[in-house]
Amino acid sequence: MNDLRLRLGIDLGGTKIEIIALGTDGRELLRRRVATPRDDYRATLAAVAELVEHAERDLGARGTVGIGTPGSISRATGLLRGSNSVCLNGQPIRRDLETILAREVLVTNDANCFALSEATDGAGQGADVVHGVILGTGVGSGVVVHGEVLDGPNAIAGEWGHNPLPWPRDDERPGSPCFCGRSGCIETWLSGPGLERDHLQSTGEGVAAKDIAARAAGGDPRCNATLARYEERFARAIAHVINILDPDVIVLGGGMSNTDRLYASVPKLWGAWVFSDRVDTRLARNVHGDSSGVRGAAWLWGKLPG
Ligand SMILES: [Zn+2]
Repeated sequence: MNDLRLRLGIDLGGTKIEIIALGTDGRELLRRRVATPRDDYRATLAAVAELVEHAERDLGARGTVGIGTPGSISRATGLLRGSNSVCLNGQPIRRDLETILAREVLVTNDANCFALSEATDGAGQGADVVHGVILGTGVGSGVVVHGEVLDGPNAIAGEWGHNPLPWPRDDERPGSPCFCGRSGCIETWLSGPGLERDHLQSTGEGVAAKDIAARAAGGDPRCNATLARYEERFARAIAHVINILDPDVIVLGGGMSNTDRLYASVPKLWGAWVFSDRVDTRLARNVHGDSSGVRGAAWLWGKLPG
């Protein structure tokens, strides 16, 4: 092994585990993925270790290891919680991987990794405060301040998808039940399935989220109305974040981020709820797309040790 240092990032998801190796200059040197072993914690650890060992063998160098995964590690117990890969919940995944890989490992939420990737060399590059928002099957978000993930004592900074939709109208109360046990969470309105449900309830049509956006772009008045409701709700929900965090840039990821008109329409709407005479926050589309999770994991080691 020579002393070339690598940043290894791993995106540990419910269906696949992906690894990326970045060189010291941030260039991508290697990327691989394998299927996530089903419901088997030990096999998942082994799969991660094998990806790391093979990447280092093939590149002839050792690297730092950062891992992005759904859920968060409790600072109090060191155990993962809130993952949709339930076999990982309650497990000391960081400690176990540190033992297997014989080095310190950083683990954080996948939405934090998205925000870090975009803040480092994506749509939020150079900005002081970046709020990365994933609008996908769920709604997650992460906050990066001066190039570092904002974590916090509860490891939940940015978990805004399970706050209630602010300034609700009478017909938006109590809202749809959410898996978290409450109703009317932002996620139930702004996720892709949330958009589909709103369209179904309003029109009786079952249409996939991406098709609602495409049909709206093609002039379909019912899909246009559904998307307009989505934009107005998104403006309300994100105005809450702007009032508290005042980010320089809000970067969108996930399937709904492919809806072109959001970037023009939402900033025209959010001023109604932001407590300021003007709003200079930028709303931006991600640069790295689906790669941001694994890239951000690699960037968790901001300054390479040594
Ligand atoms: Zn919820």
